[in-house]
Amino acid sequence: MKKLAMGRRCFSSRNMAIIPCSILLSFSVVAVQVGGQFSDGLGFISLDCGYGLDAQAYYVGPLSGIRYVSDAPYIDSGETHNISSVYASVTVPQRFLTVRSFPSGARNCYTFKSMTPRLKYLIRASFLYGNYDSKNSPSVQFDLHLGVNFWKTITVTNRSKVYYTETIMEATTDLISVCLVNNGRGTPFISSLELRPLNRTLYPVVNSSRSLILSSRFDMGRIGDYVRFPSDPHDRIWNPFDETTSLTKTSTNLTVENPVDDHFEAPHVVMNTAVVPVNSTKLELNLATEPGGLDEYYAVLHFSELKPLLQNESRQFFVYLGGTLWNDAKSFTPDYLSSSAVYSTNPTSAPTHYNISLVATSDSTLPPILNAAEVFSAMQNTIVPSDSRNVDAMVAIKGTYAVKRNWMGDPCVPKAYAWDGLNCTVDAAGVSRITAVNLSHGALTGEISTSFANLSEIQYLDLSYNKLTGSIPAFLAYLPSLKYLDLANNELSGLVPSSLLTKSQNGSLALRIEGNRNVCFNATSCGAKRKKPAPTIIVISCVVPVVLLLMLVVLCILRKQQGNHFFVHIQRSRGRHMRGSKEYAFQIDNRRFTYTELKKITKNFGRVLGKGGFGTVYYGHLDNSIKVAVKMLPHTSSEEFVTEAQHLSRVHHRNLVSMIGYCIDGEHLALVYEYMSQGTLKEHLRAESRGDRPLSWEQRLRIALEASQGLEYLHTGCKPPLIHRDVKTANILLNERLEAKISDFGLSKAFEDDDHSHVSTKVAGTPGYLDPEYSVKNQLSEKSDVYSFGVVLLELITGQPPILIGSEKIHIVEWVYERLAKGNVEDVVDKSLQGEYDVNCAWKIAYVALNCAMQSSAKRPTMTEVVMQLKERLALQSNLDKTQLEDRNTQKLLIEHGEMYQMSSFEIECATISDKDGPSAR
Ligand code: ATP
Ligand code: MG
Repeated sequence: MKKLAMGRRCFSSRNMAIIPCSILLSFSVVAVQVGGQFSDGLGFISLDCGYGLDAQAYYVGPLSGIRYVSDAPYIDSGETHNISSVYASVTVPQRFLTVRSFPSGARNCYTFKSMTPRLKYLIRASFLYGNYDSKNSPSVQFDLHLGVNFWKTITVTNRSKVYYTETIMEATTDLISVCLVNNGRGTPFISSLELRPLNRTLYPVVNSSRSLILSSRFDMGRIGDYVRFPSDPHDRIWNPFDETTSLTKTSTNLTVENPVDDHFEAPHVVMNTAVVPVNSTKLELNLATEPGGLDEYYAVLHFSELKPLLQNESRQFFVYLGGTLWNDAKSFTPDYLSSSAVYSTNPTSAPTHYNISLVATSDSTLPPILNAAEVFSAMQNTIVPSDSRNVDAMVAIKGTYAVKRNWMGDPCVPKAYAWDGLNCTVDAAGVSRITAVNLSHGALTGEISTSFANLSEIQYLDLSYNKLTGSIPAFLAYLPSLKYLDLANNELSGLVPSSLLTKSQNGSLALRIEGNRNVCFNATSCGAKRKKPAPTIIVISCVVPVVLLLMLVVLCILRKQQGNHFFVHIQRSRGRHMRGSKEYAFQIDNRRFTYTELKKITKNFGRVLGKGGFGTVYYGHLDNSIKVAVKMLPHTSSEEFVTEAQHLSRVHHRNLVSMIGYCIDGEHLALVYEYMSQGTLKEHLRAESRGDRPLSWEQRLRIALEASQGLEYLHTGCKPPLIHRDVKTANILLNERLEAKISDFGLSKAFEDDDHSHVSTKVAGTPGYLDPEYSVKNQLSEKSDVYSFGVVLLELITGQPPILIGSEKIHIVEWVYERLAKGNVEDVVDKSLQGEYDVNCAWKIAYVALNCAMQSSAKRPTMTEVVMQLKERLALQSNLDKTQLEDRNTQKLLIEHGEMYQMSSFEIECATISDKDGPSAR
């Protein structure tokens, strides 16, 4: 018989008594092991936490017959301890004699795999402190999470008591995780974790968005011990109800049946006892609820008539749940020896107590009866977990490579506990997906996991500096969003899939494969390589027309400093950035102008935009009204002019100033550039020239990113690579939308000699930006530009020039370094921002800048790494709230100790930027 009800209220979890069960059981459950997880024939998983490291270790509980196993296969963090012998009396069940504690990590999670989605599960976590840590702590408190949602705060104040909490939940995926979260009030620990599958039809108020947390469960008429498995096949714990002065216990030896559509399946041993009020027509219970009082409560009352009623007898009563009359004031009559339940379908609050009242109707000859009662608070599963395919993939990847880190629970959610080395994005429905995975230097072995194929939104995958073997899988080319793939310095072998090479060639994927000795790019080179392991740099030109490029110019050049490895440069076709943007129309042809034309364009050189080392720059506009800047060069600079003209004509990127044309007309040499209406970055940063509108923090970050992209293109997008050699804020120009572009390639010099990783040349550049190593050794590499870019970044942060002139001159790197070492980034950041910036972000950008400006070029990141460091976090906007203080202190410490290390992109967090790719919203 199905009886529905509504009502309210509940109470706090009750401590389980440590009394040996008087019922001796000869029952033992057959255990099976699936994927490292033990389950018996009933699907129970029963973990004795801290019970040894042996994954096979188990014992059978003497009273329950339940097979308890070590928790080791379900978690890879924490320490195991025995409780103190003082508390380990013979009456304490074995599962409470050991604990697993978690002194490190903010969140530590148990993971149950191969669960059945849509099935319900009862999960019970138990805690007996027993002075396991010999600290005699008077109180320990920590939080428990079920997946991504808060379950309960566990407060342990009695060292000898078992505290437990139980939830009934519906699995939404095949993974269930239970996490212990350190809330700063003690070290989380756990004694036992039990999981029991429940039929879908049980506990109907439980669904994917609502779980129940047990507040109390009483077998009302019971005398003696609590009931659990095997008396209750679902292994619920039914405690005896002791406060019975106003109640009389009653029972039957006959069996109470469960009806076919029973939603609760209360066991017969619970149902065959009950209470009735003494000399009263009203049965009233007030069950204490969780202190705090914000929770919503549900109740389930279990009834069965235990005595055959005589003809003139009747038992009929009204049910009040949490003060609310159940079922539209219809009365209730229990069935004889058949269990039925009245339960709430709507929750009610119960700040201190949950009230249950059963009031006999006026016709009733017998008082109300109550066999059992359960009260629950609701766990609203409001936090949306990450996309299950992504989660499964990451769990599989974690398993494949035995990644430890903090890789537990949901990879992205809650943000504060997101996995290290991942970035995530959240869609409109609140579902997180992984956009970046950094497993560089992760000591990974084996093949590239096919699970990466399930990371549908991944943009950035760094597997460099591992020991990965096998071939490079083609599926990587079919990850739709992948823009950066770093497989460098592994032990990969075989042919690089042509699909990947094509993506790399057309510029849609930055691909790094250097440092893999046995990788080949076509069958011929594979064969050749096997005979003679030579090579080293494979460069795909940005100048050769696309058709020719598709023939794949594979050049192998010895890189003496780095040994044998390949390096794939991204090819970018010339027309790539032309779409929908008028400035790119310039790129179609580089026009040759006559001097007369230039005179006309500039209205007889009427407006000077500025003067530089090589000449004067004039404003002009073409017939089609496109605005231009005409840089007139003295004849003596013809060498620089020719260099620049050549370079500019073949370099196209949205963050590089485009050359529209040039002039060689007798004595007259000139370059015609796209006009950048907002002038130089330098002007915008200096108080004397910028006016009263300083660049905002967000604008600065965007400019940094855009400039870094321009430089990265020079370094990696062209054959031969271009080193700018004069990176400075005066050479970063801004257009009307304040988009940044790198200008001035007059000092650039290409790698002419493929056998060398650096070029010796005369020192050039601007004081303050000059790479110190380059000045001393006169050896030029891309890292010289990285140094100068570091100085530019510092200027963006501070608004100060590269050399500060106070009582004495000090270089900006030293100036910033000294202040940050004192732990105060506020001392460094440009005062004109008036505090309108994110302190944590400022730390991180400063950190990137100082890394770029390291003395030793080897320790500086590449421009690609800088771009990733800036872009990934700026674009993906993740984890800002993640232990900001900790980050800050760590950085301070590192700076104090001079231990600057190459920071991964995942350590930069700047929430002020919210766009994805382009410099749109300003
Ligand atoms: P250096 O000669 O050392 O590079 P510089 O960068 O200051 O020094 P130029 O590149 O000749 O010298 O530029 C001189 C000035 O002309 C710049 O400061 C800028 O104000 C202006 N200018 C240069 N190019 C453009 C352009 N494309 N659009 C608008 N203004 C420009
Ligand atoms: Mg310049």
